Amino acid sequence: MLYQRSSQLFVEAEQVIPGGVNSPVRAFKAVGGTPIFAKSAKGAYVFDEDGNRFIDYINSWGPMILGHAFPPVVEAVIEKAKLGTSFGMPTEMETQIAALAIKMVPGIDKIRFVNSGTEACMSAIRLARGFTKKDKIIKFAGCYHGHSDSFLIQAGSGAVTFGSPNSPGVTVGTAKDTLLAKYNDFESVKVLVEANKNEIAAIIIEPVAGNMGCIPPNKGFLEALRQICTDNAILLIFDEVMTGFRLAKGGVQELLNVTADIVTFGKVIGGGLPVGAFAARAEIMNYLAPLGPVYQAGTLSGNPLAMAAGLAMLKALNEDEAVFQRLSEKTIYLENGIQKALSSNGIAFTINRIGSMISVHFDAAPVVDFQSAAKGDNETFKKFFHGLLNEGIYIAPSAYETWFITDALTYDDLDFTIRAIEKVAKTL
Ligand SMILES: *Cc1c(COP(=O)(O)O)cnc(C)c1O
Repeated sequence: MLYQRSSQLFVEAEQVIPGGVNSPVRAFKAVGGTPIFAKSAKGAYVFDEDGNRFIDYINSWGPMILGHAFPPVVEAVIEKAKLGTSFGMPTEMETQIAALAIKMVPGIDKIRFVNSGTEACMSAIRLARGFTKKDKIIKFAGCYHGHSDSFLIQAGSGAVTFGSPNSPGVTVGTAKDTLLAKYNDFESVKVLVEANKNEIAAIIIEPVAGNMGCIPPNKGFLEALRQICTDNAILLIFDEVMTGFRLAKGGVQELLNVTADIVTFGKVIGGGLPVGAFAARAEIMNYLAPLGPVYQAGTLSGNPLAMAAGLAMLKALNEDEAVFQRLSEKTIYLENGIQKALSSNGIAFTINRIGSMISVHFDAAPVVDFQSAAKGDNETFKKFFHGLLNEGIYIAPSAYETWFITDALTYDDLDFTIRAIEKVAKTL
């Protein structure tokens, strides 16, 4: 495949945008080469500026769960745009999407919309601190909760790929209020809670981790977190920015039947427009301004175009009883194909999968936390990535990323992908 125009566009972009990209995970730094510039996308495919077609396994890092340019979303946005693109006043649609989200997700009475997953998580911990009147939070190594200061401590994919687990610019004062535990290791949480009695406001976690590859929680791990939070007046925050409206209508809370105190959303909830949200029971949400003392605001929050896209997306997911089952089946089919292709070539690997999230790690040992995820062979991943790209398969340019499966994928697309992996496996 030729990437002439993408390469040229990248040179131009580098002159005026740091690294040529507006989010570091889009760069090809970890895999070498230059990023591909997208021109358009439809269904399961993305087309680049050179006219190449790729089967897309990133799907805008999650939002396009029903495929690119999903007609109900596109139409909703076009119709809304004609009526004005922002008012800075409440609109009826904000109530409609809020009510639908509350109906779909267990345990939440009220929800507030923001513009990104980062904002949602940042606001969620402020709310947790205000509500509990405590300062510290516990996060897990390898979990990503957006790029706000408190979370840039061993923060998974992007931050790890670029070798800056603790970003300069995060003050020591901020970092000291973020305590670090090990994913799937309840003992590491217990030790922190005991050493910081009455100081911890919240434990924030990706209830299924997706930013160090896909790592499901061990049996009983989330339940143990729920219990220790309840026992110590700590709020449990599920960051469902990736998993929300993807693994089930009600996200991991529904899938694994564990209830959090605050839940954050992003990605799918915006249908491909910039939307995040955080939600909780009324007692907690009423702590927010203008009702309560915790301040949080946004000029473009609840933006009509973004709400139109999100509402069309949630409606489609809510009305399709079989969608999550179908997504799982497609992902299992892909998993089996990858498994066969890689094992018949004697490659050391582990595949993790839950629902429509899947990741391939080039190490034979189980991948259960950040440490084990970091053992993957990056040289093999690079060859795998470029090999697939050359076959017209686009996966994330980092070994720490989950593949996002879209319902727009047909079994022909999956077979095409598996054949490409069989071919590439012979070269690893
Ligand atoms: C993507 C992501 C975020 C950040 O969302 P943005 O919209 O990129 O700010 C937060 N948490 C998780 C789990 C994510 O996957």
